[in-house]
Amino acid sequence: MVIGAGMAGMAAALFAARRGISTAQAGLTGETLYASGLFDLYGVTHGRSRAPVDDPWQGLDRLRRSHPDHPFCRVSNHQIRLAMDLLTEFLGEAGHPYRGHADKNARLITPVGTIKRTFRVPATMWAGVLALEAREPSLVVDIRGLRGFSAEQIVSTLKPAWPDLRAASIDLPWEARLGPKYAEHIARGLHVETARRELADAIQPHLGQAKSIGLPAVLGIHDTETVRKDLDRLLGVPVFEIPTMPPAISGVRLKEAFDIHMPAQGINAHYHHTVQALHRRPDGRFVLDVGRTQPETSVIADRVLLATGRFLGKGLVAGRQGIREALLDIPVSQPVNRSCWHREAFLDPKGHAINLAGIEVDDRFRPVNANGRPVYDNLYAAGSILAHQDWIRTKSGTGLAVATAYGAIEAMAEDSTGKPKG
Ligand SMILES: Cc1cc2nc3c(=O)[nH]c(=O)nc-3n(C[C@H](O)[C@H](O)[C@H](O)COP(=O)(O)OP(=O)(O)OC[C@H]3O[C@@H](n4cnc5c(N)ncnc54)[C@H](O)[C@@H]3O)c2cc1C
Repeated sequence: MVIGAGMAGMAAALFAARRGISTAQAGLTGETLYASGLFDLYGVTHGRSRAPVDDPWQGLDRLRRSHPDHPFCRVSNHQIRLAMDLLTEFLGEAGHPYRGHADKNARLITPVGTIKRTFRVPATMWAGVLALEAREPSLVVDIRGLRGFSAEQIVSTLKPAWPDLRAASIDLPWEARLGPKYAEHIARGLHVETARRELADAIQPHLGQAKSIGLPAVLGIHDTETVRKDLDRLLGVPVFEIPTMPPAISGVRLKEAFDIHMPAQGINAHYHHTVQALHRRPDGRFVLDVGRTQPETSVIADRVLLATGRFLGKGLVAGRQGIREALLDIPVSQPVNRSCWHREAFLDPKGHAINLAGIEVDDRFRPVNANGRPVYDNLYAAGSILAHQDWIRTKSGTGLAVATAYGAIEAMAEDSTGKPKG
């Protein structure tokens, strides 16, 4: 049983199903709507220096030497590569392909015109990575009335580094009579061929010498490659998406890909349901009560993976008495008292101690108690609930979730050849 339907839970359920493990899963998938769609692995160094990382594999090797407690130390680079490949292959089969360099992070334009390092990008964004590398003459286009995305702002921020970048604003004929535009309406509209032609016609007069065109991430929800390739053809140059502010279409795509295609992997999915309670029977098996607001069904599982996230996911709960793990009250590694949770300044470059809080695991991803012994031999944990990592600062959200999910499922698969012990 996988508890959690964020990136760690999804990856774990996928890896377990692919390994032939009979898998059930519960959790809310709505948080995926906030995902940028970029799959970060390791983009900024852990610790105080905060240096950008171009080669994530070398970066991870250094991290393992300097921070032996970090969860990345429990998985090898080889395993992380396999895990990221499995996830992106699945998404490719679900109509949402990913691209990236083999051995280095890609650089990508953010919605505010800064440059971010990330490991895998939706294929719809890949031409933007190449255009940025080549600094070729390019055009960024925004859509009047679509909030949160300004071509002018992106270009003015990037201009010093990319002099041949220009901005243009267009109206969408089929949306012109509406007031504020919604990215999701536009994205769904672009599945219609006429809408694509009208978009290309609106961009054409601004094209000039541009060798590629950046648009907000609105190129469809499903089968985005068809939309992108058709626009490439109509405009005669590659078109690329620039991520938009969350909640963004990239999150909608991921959520729908998971919601629709995960059950087809043979997973007994209880999405939009949570585990309300669980207990362990004398024979070592877990009984999990699953439901929306109260128990509706029970799942009996030989092994359980906890991928319930931190505070946002509700895997951890912060209170006056400290930080608690929500489901089983597993010990949480945390600062000695509340006054040590945060530094004075919100954006302090040294980060906040609370963001390293989480549960400790052994080498087999089993949560441990105060003595360092596994709480249960058949309970595992993965993702952002793990201690000693600060995925936001190190730009490693998806990488950490997917890598630790892989490690935990590998350990679980090996352990399941024997019987769970009490
Ligand atoms: C706004 C935002 C932007 C992000 N941008 C990026 C990005 O640009 N690049 C990147 O790589 N990563 C990004 N991430 C991070 C990425 O999504 C992480 O991998 C993720 O947040 C951590 O994954 P997780 O599965 O460990 O936890 P979460 O995503 O928090 O998921 C926890 C899951 O556990 C479930 N759960 C909790 N309690 C229970 C229960 N009792 N029963 C059943 N289910 C339960 C929740 O419903 C949820 O499904 C972003 C995340 C956010 C929030």
